[in-house]
Parts: sequence; structure tokens; C-alpha cells
Amino acid sequence: VTGTSLNIDFEDMGLPRALLMGIFEAGFERPSPIQEAAIPSALSGRDILARAKNGTGKTAAFIIPLLSKINVSKPYIQGVVLVPTRELALQIASVTKTLSKHMGVEVMVTTGGTTLKDDILRLQQPVHVLVGTPGRILDLAGKGVADLGKGCGVFVMDEADKLLSPEFGPVMESLLGYLPKRKEQEGESVGRQVMLFSATFPMIVKDFKDKHMNNPYEINLMDELTLKGVTQYYAYVEERQKVHCLNTLFSKLQINQSIIFCNSTNRVELLAKKITELGYSCFYSHAKMLQSHRNRVFHDFRSGTCRNLVCSDLLTRGIDIQAVNVVINFDFPKNSETYLHRIGRSGRFGHLGLAINLVTYEDRFNLDRIERELGTEIGPIPREVDRGLY
Ligand code: ADP
Ligand code: MG
Repeated sequence: VTGTSLNIDFEDMGLPRALLMGIFEAGFERPSPIQEAAIPSALSGRDILARAKNGTGKTAAFIIPLLSKINVSKPYIQGVVLVPTRELALQIASVTKTLSKHMGVEVMVTTGGTTLKDDILRLQQPVHVLVGTPGRILDLAGKGVADLGKGCGVFVMDEADKLLSPEFGPVMESLLGYLPKRKEQEGESVGRQVMLFSATFPMIVKDFKDKHMNNPYEINLMDELTLKGVTQYYAYVEERQKVHCLNTLFSKLQINQSIIFCNSTNRVELLAKKITELGYSCFYSHAKMLQSHRNRVFHDFRSGTCRNLVCSDLLTRGIDIQAVNVVINFDFPKNSETYLHRIGRSGRFGHLGLAINLVTYEDRFNLDRIERELGTEIGPIPREVDRGLY
């Protein structure tokens, strides 16, 4: 997924009550987008490959599902969190302790630069969650004092790109050998869940994914817009022909859901009225409406209550709704950035889509410029648009 908001609350996730108490006491009222995207899938047991910006709450996105899987009556390690630095290990262990405050979970931090003997001693007491740096954890696993093979069902790599760099990569490979083997059970993979979190995913992560992960749920909240998969056309029209042209498009295209952009709030309302008069269902949203109203419109549109949405540029961010297969620039945008935000889809796993630009004589230079600046092709609309393109 990419930037979608599902509006799930922590209470709706089926988390243990004691964990929920810890979450609220930590001051988290609502899940952040990365938490909303990652936690439900992680709870279902799927491997997770998640990319989100710094400071967006990635820690809780993996600690919450990890904690919810801990059975405190079993005295062995059930979850490991690997991080590249000692400071980060301490910080994550502290978050883990805060969130699990009412659960009775035993959290241990282990990193290089401390006495190995102390760690060995500590491991003679029950430990449920082990947070640490790769070298030290490999040491403890190799010596047989940290038993990861018994029941370590969750394996998290935070700042995963760094953990897979040449500095740590080989150690990570060895460590994975100590984890329980993945078992196939009734078509489901059980026994080991791997979660990778990072803000950057170089190629090295893809190699790891192919080798060690099982059909991971991929989340990308980086908002990188791309025009890949979007077929773009223009139709030359006169201003007064636009509504007629739109009507023709509606009747000819197989629209699943569409977003139609205008350049001003006035035009948004006028056009929405015209579209309704033409007999098509339509919502509208623009900057002069109350935020709460706008949120409701967007939420309803996303849930599929309505087929078409007319809006101004306030909605250009976050329009990555899977069901939208056609975007129409009723008014052609003035610059390439706006164009990209309207038409572009975020994430690498974009679906197909169609973008149609109504272009007037005055817009012709803008069309050329935007095409050039974005290095993309906007061709004349053919008589019949191939259904396979969107
Ligand atoms: P990241 O790893 O993505 O850089 P962190 O996990 O370190 O981000 O979280 C950043 C900050 O956001 C922390 O101070 C954390 O306590 C806070 N935070 C995380 N999730 C929530 C939430 N759901 N509600 C409020 N604050 C949150
Ligand atoms: Mg982090």
C-alpha cells in the first residue's frame, strides 16, 4: 500500500487489553499512518517490508504486533529486534518497556561495548524480547546462551538498510540461521515472521527480500510520485466545449472511480453541479470547505460511495486510491509539479491508470513544457482507448 488511510483505531486491532493500556498511557491516541498500515498485517503473521519517513512512528509499528504475540508464561525469547547502534537499541528497549508495562514482558537490551558475562548471567532469567546489535546477539546465539531457535517467532530489523550494508550483512546472514525454520502449515507459513523497517531501501534490501522473506506485505509511505503505469492523453477543446467533452468521456470510458481537477474553487462547484445534471453521481471538495466536511467527502469517496470526485488542488496529495482508474484535468494545471501531484501515483507498485487532459489553445505551451520537464509523453486521445491501459 501507499499513503492510504483506513481509519483504524488501536481499539479495533484486537490487541491484548494490557498492551492497549500501555499504548494509551504512552500518550498514543491514534495510530500513525505507518502503524495503521503495518500493524494489522503484522498481526496476521505476514512478513512486512515497510518504508516510511523518519519520525513517523515506525518503532511502535513493529513493537505493538511483536508484543501482542508474546506469551509471558513461556520463559524463552519470542521476539528479537535488531538495530545498528547501541543508542537505538536502548531507545527501542525503552519504548518496548513502556508499551508492555502492564504485560509482564521481560525485555533485555544487549549491545557491543558492554560485558558479555553480564549478558550471559541475565539470560539465565526469563527473557521474552531481545533488543540489540547484530554482533553481540550473534555472539550470544553462537555460545548457545540466547536460544533463538526455540520460539523466536518475530524477527525485526529496524534501519534495515544499514543492517544489510557490508558492515553488518554477513552477521545478519549468520543470525538468521539460528532462527526457527519456516514451516508450511495448511498453505500458511508459520514459525518465523520477518519485518524490515527503514526510510531508504537500496537494492541490497531487495536481495534480502527475495532470499529470506515470504511474500512480504510491502508498505511505502515515502510519497514518491511516479507516472509509471499512467497513460496520458490530451484532447484539444475550447473552453465552452469542456462539459460536452467530459460527457463524452464519461459515456465512452470504463470508469471505476474518477477524480476531476479544476483550477479554482468556483469552478469545482459549478462543474460538480453540471455533472450531477448530466446524471452522474459526483462529490466535490475544495479549500473553502470546512476541513471536517472535506475529510468526510474524501473518506466517503475512498470507501466507494460515489464514483466521481471534482476537486481543486488541495486534494492532489494522497489521491492514491486503488479504485481510481481515471484522472481528468478539466482545467490543465499551470506547472509540472501540480501535474505530477494530480496524476502521479506514489509507490513502486502502482496500478494502471488513465490521465486525460482537456487542453485549450492557451494551454498549449504549458502542455509542451510539462511534458518536457517531466520527461513523459502526453499523446492525443485516440478514438477508442484500449481497455487494457486502465
Ligand atoms: P521513526 O522510527 O519512524 O523515526 P519513532 O518510532 O521513533 O519514529 O517515533 C517518533 C515519535 O513519535 C516518538 O516520539 C513516538 O513516541 C511518537 N509516536 C509514535 N507513534 C505515535 C502515535 N500513534 N501517537 C502519538 N505519538 C506517536
Ligand atoms: Mg526509527
